[in-house]
Amino acid sequence: MINEAERHILLVHLPGQDGLCAGCRAWWSRLTPYPCWQVNWATTRQARSLTAALLGGRA
Ligand SMILES: [Zn+2]
Repeated sequence: MINEAERHILLVHLPGQDGLCAGCRAWWSRLTPYPCWQVNWATTRQARSLTAALLGGRA
């Protein structure tokens, strides 16, 4: 299950042409290498919940 916050982060924080996060630059004028910590946070949480869903479905 992907919650709204995680989906929103992944929609906004995309790799820019120069290897920096386009979302961080657009929203906060920050020059952050992609993937930024927010993308890392969202993808890590997604992987965890996906694993939990798979394990829960088989138990
Ligand atoms: Zn970002």
